[in-house]
Amino acid sequence: MVRTPRALTLKLFDHHIHTERSDGTVSLAERANTVAVRPHGVSDHFPWPGKMRNDDDVLRYLDDAARLGLRVGLEYDLGVAPPLRASTRAALHYMIGALHQIEVDGVRIPFDEAGAFLKGKLASFSERERFSDGALARRIRERMLEVVRESFARDGIDILGHGTMSPLAALGDPERAYPGEWQEQLIQLCLDADVAIEVNEAYGVPHQEFLQRARRMGARFSVGSDTHGLLAPLDKTGAMIEAASLPVDRFLAGERVRAAR
Ligand SMILES: [Zn+2]
Ligand SMILES: [Zn+2]
Repeated sequence: MVRTPRALTLKLFDHHIHTERSDGTVSLAERANTVAVRPHGVSDHFPWPGKMRNDDDVLRYLDDAARLGLRVGLEYDLGVAPPLRASTRAALHYMIGALHQIEVDGVRIPFDEAGAFLKGKLASFSERERFSDGALARRIRERMLEVVRESFARDGIDILGHGTMSPLAALGDPERAYPGEWQEQLIQLCLDADVAIEVNEAYGVPHQEFLQRARRMGARFSVGSDTHGLLAPLDKTGAMIEAASLPVDRFLAGERVRAAR
């Protein structure tokens, strides 16, 4: 196994970057300028109100960004986004799929507060008690696997973005929140669909043991800073890659590794 030195980590392609075409603050033109700093693409949210509503919006985004020399993906909202045409999916350079909410027995559970807490934007997580309930936690885990499985079968996902980000991760002990068996099931879904597992800088997920399990099981990986503003150094990512000994040759490089589907 090849260990990935820090210098190589910093040259890995960053697939997960937002622009003002969804909820980022930086224009496509500005993003095109920073590709010289370190290699990256753009991958805005789909759907996004008023901006990324349908295939036409996505294809316009792709055209505008590709004309500037950018590699172009989407952050497809798993369980929520309407299906895109196969031709639209094939035209994109890659597709990130990510969960931002989950519906459990008719109740919508948003991940926003947990996400803000994991990003360090909130000092505490107010729903700790609610999500410490074992039965609810188990249902969330089951639903996460179901939604990911359904989407992988339908949406042509190449990368699982921030795969363990949820209110359960915000409880503080991901090895307890996500039993090893569950982690292996999620990793196996990625292996079966040849979907790469994102190392996410913004949320600092997945945690070390998950990444080590994924490495042992032979997964592919992908770097995602998930920045909405300035292009920042991949400090956390570098440390995560090192701690889990993820091999550089298992990382995606700005394109899908199999035919679009
Ligand atoms: Zn996301
Ligand atoms: Zn994102």
